[in-house]
Amino acid sequence: MHPQPSHESPSAPADGHVWLVGAGPGDPDLITLRGLRALQAADVVFHDSLTAPELLSHCRPGALRISVGKRAGQHSVPQEDIHVLLAAHARAGLAVVRLKGGDPFIFGRGGEEMESLRAQGIPVTVVPGVTAASGCAAATGIPLTHRDLAAGVCLMTAHRRDGARDPDWTSLAADRQRTLVFYMGLSQAGHVGTELLLHGLPGTTPAALVSQGATSRQKAVRCTLAGLARAARRRELESPCLIVIGDVVALADPALVPWVEDLPEHEAGHPGKAPADRASGAISVPGQNDRPAASPTACPA
Ligand code: SAH
Repeated sequence: MHPQPSHESPSAPADGHVWLVGAGPGDPDLITLRGLRALQAADVVFHDSLTAPELLSHCRPGALRISVGKRAGQHSVPQEDIHVLLAAHARAGLAVVRLKGGDPFIFGRGGEEMESLRAQGIPVTVVPGVTAASGCAAATGIPLTHRDLAAGVCLMTAHRRDGARDPDWTSLAADRQRTLVFYMGLSQAGHVGTELLLHGLPGTTPAALVSQGATSRQKAVRCTLAGLARAARRRELESPCLIVIGDVVALADPALVPWVEDLPEHEAGHPGKAPADRASGAISVPGQNDRPAASPTACPA
């Protein structure tokens, strides 16, 4: 049985096919209907550590489920081996789903998987997903754009391949009307903060770190750009973690996202200050820390 996304042409080969499916950022409810249908019909599913384990319960009985991600101290399968595995299963005539965290084309190497499959003549369909920036923004009440505060949003990675050029910090720091989101940034938060400060972004610019966003383990810390490195060292924060920098962070709704005060001494005693002026605080998201597996973005069944 093969997945039959509605847009697939009737002349698509009857043999193997790979669907690169965005699983969303952690809450299993955030997969698309198209992604879910592909998952339900797949013969074999390759999943990784960023995809919600609950999603695998949608696989049909007998479907092979293969983990290619890092879990419990085990190493992940090298990217080249994933390419080989996907191609081999498709060539065997199977419907293959490669389930990927967030959106397949936003970091996470979905583009490389597509290129490799295409080069081998294997049909591939990409099913988009909710990327971590959108999932974390919704779960913490931080709009990524806003007519008064942010005319755009820039998705960046803080992790560079060895030898890769650094981002253009001057241009990133120049536009205050743009929200900056850094993926893969927890260990690089100090570097990101320092570079943006050095290139002129004010130290008072609001920033947030969202760890395991849109999951029952979500934690978030709000800080300023100047306090980013310090905030990133808080023990609440674990990978995966996203950094959001920009005036929109000040809009995090305290009713949706109550946060524990953790101000540096010179700001203590000013609890009424605007969030943008506060240094850092752990945000414990209702339904994430005190209720099992509930999510602010989950709809009642
Ligand atoms: N394709 C994915 C991104 C993969 S790169 C997407 O579209 O979301 C992996 C990085 O994504 C992590 O290092 C982290 O920065 C971010 N990320 C993924 N899931 C996340 C989550 N639930 N909470 C916070 N950050 C997350």
